[in-house]
Amino acid sequence: MDIGELSQKFGVNAEVGEGGNFPRFLQSAAGKKVLVVTDENTLPISQKIVSSLEGSGAHVLPLSFAEREPVADEKTVETARKAGEKADYLLAVGAGTLNDVCKRAGFLLGKPSGVFATAPSMDGFTSGVTPLIEKGFKITRNAQVAKDILIDYSVLKAAPRMMIGAGVGDILAKYCCLTDWRISHVLTGEEYNTEAANLMYEAVKACDESVPALIKGEEKGVEMLMNALLISGYAMVISGNSRPASGAEHHMSHFLEMDFLRRGERIPLHGVKVGLGTAVSLWLYHHLKEFPAFEGCEEVYEEAEKLPESQYVLQILGSLGCPVRFSELGVSRETVKKMLFEAYKIRDRFTVLTLYCTRGFMERAAEPILDEFY
Ligand SMILES: [Zn+2]
Repeated sequence: MDIGELSQKFGVNAEVGEGGNFPRFLQSAAGKKVLVVTDENTLPISQKIVSSLEGSGAHVLPLSFAEREPVADEKTVETARKAGEKADYLLAVGAGTLNDVCKRAGFLLGKPSGVFATAPSMDGFTSGVTPLIEKGFKITRNAQVAKDILIDYSVLKAAPRMMIGAGVGDILAKYCCLTDWRISHVLTGEEYNTEAANLMYEAVKACDESVPALIKGEEKGVEMLMNALLISGYAMVISGNSRPASGAEHHMSHFLEMDFLRRGERIPLHGVKVGLGTAVSLWLYHHLKEFPAFEGCEEVYEEAEKLPESQYVLQILGSLGCPVRFSELGVSRETVKKMLFEAYKIRDRFTVLTLYCTRGFMERAAEPILDEFY
């Protein structure tokens, strides 16, 4: 599947290029004022795209955050919004945070935005909403889908290993998201969208099969990962909700995020937390038969058998430099225990965690899980 062609269907110009050479994007930017948003890490990476923009007749307005890792909060968004007042277009040179900030600022200004991806670390490139921190809380705000996503595989390949690992965590998580969705369909009658689920599943499978190439640093691995990260957004557009891309593992990650925010500490990468949540979800699925039977359980057991083992996922994440235990994240065992019992309440959405918590299975599961993953 050609990611550029697929993206076009969703109104996104996902353009693969090299050395700042992105003809479609540059042509559309000619004669425009383009705000190029960077941080300390991505400023050097932005040089080639900036000179290409200037060379093709665009007027570049630079905005560089003088931090290594700015936070996607109201202050950062406001800075980008203000700087964007004079621009026709906002281009983030970054990954999670700067992409979120530009999507939101562009949305507030009613101006198009895009991203030059510097790391394949999360699946927010193609999503129309953006997670932001406001008054110390994580809030999902409306934003816009990036108009252009500029992809240079040599740049993505050179991203910090843990950021690549985080992207893989966010993708392997989809095995659980899709299974959570299916068991909800079986047990609660929730609507299930086969087209969205199949599109996501195929992309996850292709990414999973390319993991050895990814670990070796080969371009093919990064390509399959980036494809899956983009497709995740498209699958959500098709289903009209985040079901194909978010399940219990994301609820666990959100629960932990709130703990970091409360303590005023830097939040670990999204995909890193999601990867650990995925290991827990997989454990829950594979141990389900040890708990009392319930109506519809046979179908759920069948779904569980198709899933990889927790250790398979953790081994991959570990080889990409990601933490493989919650204790490595800097959270207390007590918090992780609370997460197991309470994360399912974060969203009114049935998952394997809801199944365990509402049937009293978690009472017996929590300690073995903590022993294995904390
Ligand atoms: Zn995610």
